[in-house]
Amino acid sequence: MRRRTVLTLSALASLAGGVSAWWSWPRAPRWNLLLISIDTLRADHLSVYGYERPTSPAIDRLARRGHVFRRAYSTCPMTLPSHTSMLTGMHPAQLGVTDNFQKVPQEAVTLAEVLKNAGYATGGFVSANPLFTHTQIQKGFDVYDAHTRIAGPTVQQAISWMDVHKNAPHFAFVHLFDPHSVYHAPSQFRQAFRAPQRPMPPDDAFIVDLDAMTPQLVSEATAAYDAEISYADSEVGRLLGFLERSGLAERTLVALVSDHGETLGELLDRFGYAFDHSEFAYLHQLHVPLILALPGADSSRDHWEPVSLVDLMPTLLELLGIPKPAGSYGLSLAPRLRGDPVQASPCFSQRQGFQKAGRPFFAGEGLSLVHDRWHLMSFDAMPSELYDLTSDPLEQHNLLERSASSPPGSAAGHAPDASDSVDRAAVQRVSEDLEYRLGSLHEMVSQPVASGGVVVDPEVIRKLRGLGYVN
Ligand SMILES: [Zn+2]
Repeated sequence: MRRRTVLTLSALASLAGGVSAWWSWPRAPRWNLLLISIDTLRADHLSVYGYERPTSPAIDRLARRGHVFRRAYSTCPMTLPSHTSMLTGMHPAQLGVTDNFQKVPQEAVTLAEVLKNAGYATGGFVSANPLFTHTQIQKGFDVYDAHTRIAGPTVQQAISWMDVHKNAPHFAFVHLFDPHSVYHAPSQFRQAFRAPQRPMPPDDAFIVDLDAMTPQLVSEATAAYDAEISYADSEVGRLLGFLERSGLAERTLVALVSDHGETLGELLDRFGYAFDHSEFAYLHQLHVPLILALPGADSSRDHWEPVSLVDLMPTLLELLGIPKPAGSYGLSLAPRLRGDPVQASPCFSQRQGFQKAGRPFFAGEGLSLVHDRWHLMSFDAMPSELYDLTSDPLEQHNLLERSASSPPGSAAGHAPDASDSVDRAAVQRVSEDLEYRLGSLHEMVSQPVASGGVVVDPEVIRKLRGLGYVN
């Protein structure tokens, strides 16, 4: 398991002290940074990630000259926690930001703050309320242009700002919200994807009205979702076109991500749930695109190891030649870009519980661990689930369910399927190993490092040192 460094007290003191001297590092090569986050964008609905519909010609072009992380996972299937993680290199729970109604603590050090202190102009251009200034996620941005809007006006503001700052190092953060429900792209995109002319799904009640949820409606809503992706992609194309025309492409590092995915029709039969996110940890809510396109030379390469968005900030900083903040949880992916051997790292995700009438499975915490070929989910309100992503990428066969109901070597009472051939003893071993890793990571990220207080339990440190997490 890759070593993670739990915050030492001195590092925490540095964090709590806000801006300090650790980034007085010689900067090279002074690339600009453009970070594009397209909200609610499932990786598997982009052409470059294998989708059959042509949703993403512009993103595909970017991917053809960049590093494509085929298996990137969000730390939380919710907007503010996930963006907080991306922009701080910390897990959401470490900063106490586990839903959209909390604030990024003043003690947290953001990517924008680091770059601003390194001499960059910093501009944020966001499109939805979970990232507005009441959340304090704008820390470090010189300009933070936040409005509820479709992609076009957001991109236009970003282009105008980058044009003004094109002769100096700058960091532009562009957040597009279009694939988030309600799905209702501009008409030409709806027409291109044969999506309904009315907004989809028709209204919020729809997602719990099973009688109304016909296969035809699922299909129409999915087409409407794809149309939104296509529209956002066209605006990404406009943004990248500006870089080309202005000459900025030669000295701008471009990162494209999403904060989380979206459940479409996958959980309809089982939970009566569709067209939403935040409540589950299946990979259609966690698997996101991650594309890093370095300026200049074509650096196209696929990466198939699981990686987490908590590693985004340290990765971007290393590529820009700037040290990451002391105490950052995330680890740079730059060695992978260079082709250096890197030990596999488990990807931990977490969502907090929700109280919803008729939805007992939303209660309590939900934890997720992707490691190697496996995905383990552990919920307070549901039995754990384990999937073999190599043989079952759509997570159709919960190996723990079959393991619990069938003695080794027996599939009695079940129709034969792929999971019947699984070695039960092996499943048990994998399950125990992943449960142990999941519990350890959960314990580690549950130690808050900000919000005015620093809590580090010496007993936790002792245990984690034994696991190789602590330097
Ligand atoms: Zn979101």
